[in-house]
Amino acid sequence: MSPPLALESQVQALTDLYNSIQNARHYPRELLKNTIVPNPLTLAPPSLSLYSQQLKDIVHMLRSDAVQSALRAAQESEKTDGQNIMNNVRRENRKRRRPPSPESPQPYTVIERQSSSLFPATEDSALLKSSELVEYIRQFNKEHSSCRLGIWQGTRSSIRDVKNPAILRFTIKDVLMAYLTVSYTVNDLSLVVESVTAFGPRERKLPHSQSEYSVYRMLSQELGRMIHSDPQVGLQKFMTLLCSYENMFTARCDKCQRVLCVEGHVAAVERVWDESNGRWEPRHVSC
Ligand SMILES: [Zn+2]
Repeated sequence: MSPPLALESQVQALTDLYNSIQNARHYPRELLKNTIVPNPLTLAPPSLSLYSQQLKDIVHMLRSDAVQSALRAAQESEKTDGQNIMNNVRRENRKRRRPPSPESPQPYTVIERQSSSLFPATEDSALLKSSELVEYIRQFNKEHSSCRLGIWQGTRSSIRDVKNPAILRFTIKDVLMAYLTVSYTVNDLSLVVESVTAFGPRERKLPHSQSEYSVYRMLSQELGRMIHSDPQVGLQKFMTLLCSYENMFTARCDKCQRVLCVEGHVAAVERVWDESNGRWEPRHVSC
């Protein structure tokens, strides 16, 4: 029983590391832009300190016992059998969603998802423009009683301008807190959601760190997978997904009808859009 669990946590450690590095990637570009673009985007000091904190976190994670032992194990494993090793963590993320059951070993078959969006195919409103963000947030908070959206400033600043990328802070009371990175390009001022990191409601963490709790790390991965399915997903559409986590710890999985899954006792952190009911249905990652 213990080897698969150990392997599982090693894969988790390396996946977390990979995701942190991926997260760090879009920052340097923005920092460089500041010096070469004739009309530089406003770049507040927190971006720099955030970035350096993020790098420190990655170094810390890389040096941690968990990652080091996972790397050693990977090296050993490669020495034993280096065949068919795919350098593809995204595939690994997907693979992990169907953990092999030790009782009934079955050959794993990769079900390739179509590269289509996992979001509802509504063509209703146009994407939100950066200039409309502040008004959108005001309206959003008016319409939602237990959810709250705001622009994360990093410092106590009274400046209300929207940076690019902007970091939004979303909370559902007593359920979760999430940082969303939204950005736009010079040619298209529509805001797209680049990344999301979820935390416990009382965790005090910076946007590019990660939660201490595995359920929120799983949630971050799940949200990342959704974004990968539709890299141009707009903020409004994404917010319907985030709001569906209001009942994250009480919702029943639409497959097995349980609140916590049998394997691992984790809440249903996956969401599947149900076209006929017009809502996001909760599902366990392992179901
Ligand atoms: Zn289930």
